[in-house]
Amino acid sequence: MSVNCHIIMQALEEIAPFRFAADWDNVGLMVGSSSKQVNRALVSLDITEQTVGRAIQQQCDLIIAHHPLIFPNLTSVNTDTASGRIIKKLIQADITAYALHTNLDAAIGGVNDALANQLELRNVSVLSKQSAGHLLKLAVFVPTSYVENVRQAITAAGAGHIGNYSHCTFKVDGTGTFLPLEGSNPFIGNPGHLEYCNECRLETILPESIKDKVLAAMLAAHPYEEVAYDLVPLLNSGTPIGLGRIGNLPQVMSSTEFSRYVKDKLKVDCVKIAGQANNIQRVAVCGGSGASLIPQAAALGADVFVTGEISYHQAQQALDLKLCVVDAGHFSTEVCVLEYLREYLSEFGQAHDWSVEFIVDSEARDIFSFV
Ligand SMILES: [Zn+2]
Repeated sequence: MSVNCHIIMQALEEIAPFRFAADWDNVGLMVGSSSKQVNRALVSLDITEQTVGRAIQQQCDLIIAHHPLIFPNLTSVNTDTASGRIIKKLIQADITAYALHTNLDAAIGGVNDALANQLELRNVSVLSKQSAGHLLKLAVFVPTSYVENVRQAITAAGAGHIGNYSHCTFKVDGTGTFLPLEGSNPFIGNPGHLEYCNECRLETILPESIKDKVLAAMLAAHPYEEVAYDLVPLLNSGTPIGLGRIGNLPQVMSSTEFSRYVKDKLKVDCVKIAGQANNIQRVAVCGGSGASLIPQAAALGADVFVTGEISYHQAQQALDLKLCVVDAGHFSTEVCVLEYLREYLSEFGQAHDWSVEFIVDSEARDIFSFV
């Protein structure tokens, strides 16, 4: 069965919520309708005229891109310009376009995890941490015979994740009381009689971003007409998110060996390197244009920093901090996320009975070449 575009967008926003995006960014729906039915979606880095051409050719209903087509300073859709022509072509072909940009850079399982994974880094952590958003404590009062139903529903909706553990809940038995008033339709007891009922207090933890989904699942699984629950903001910090990653190579190598390693792993013809070292093991990465994270990479003890678009002066700054830098290009340090996204959406779709095909825009190439 085809799926409403809005459902696919919700799945994407589960890994890369809008609140992860930079203030200057423009993420989400770019062009088209979020209620479009989708049979096939193209996952691409950019939305160029060529990308749209390939989407039309492959009968795609949706383009999911990393780089936004429209930034907040767009004041007109002028079809004499490339962006105007792209927007016109998308509308004419009835293709919806959606972008996940800096929200996907910061997300767990986003651009930077894809890049760290491509370089086979181990013990990976976030290079530049930003707030992961608020965590909430949910405590719901459930009649004993329904605890498992409710537990399964809220954990299936994503509540109860702590580090590498899922389905984390706590239950304590007790006695609930209630007096059904006139007009009520109680699951247990009768209007006008005080009831004592064996209930459990079932607790779990969840990020605020999935609050609505978890509450909906809880209410659907709970037998009571009026469900008693507490939702409390916590001061605990959640899983850290943010730009860049830092981790260790499988083995120590020289800077020359590492340059070849990056070329091989990212499948690029050429990289630029500044600095020389014989014992490179700790590697910081940031997909795209990440040179502003040079100080963080040095501060966290990286031997080398891999990103795209490193300027002469930024490389000098790195060398002053005893950090080698490898410029592997904007495209090549980000393109690896497309397969990550395709896999995530395909698995999500399988679990939810979608019959949507997600395909990677494999014909897209880096706009730079080496001569
Ligand atoms: Zn980029």
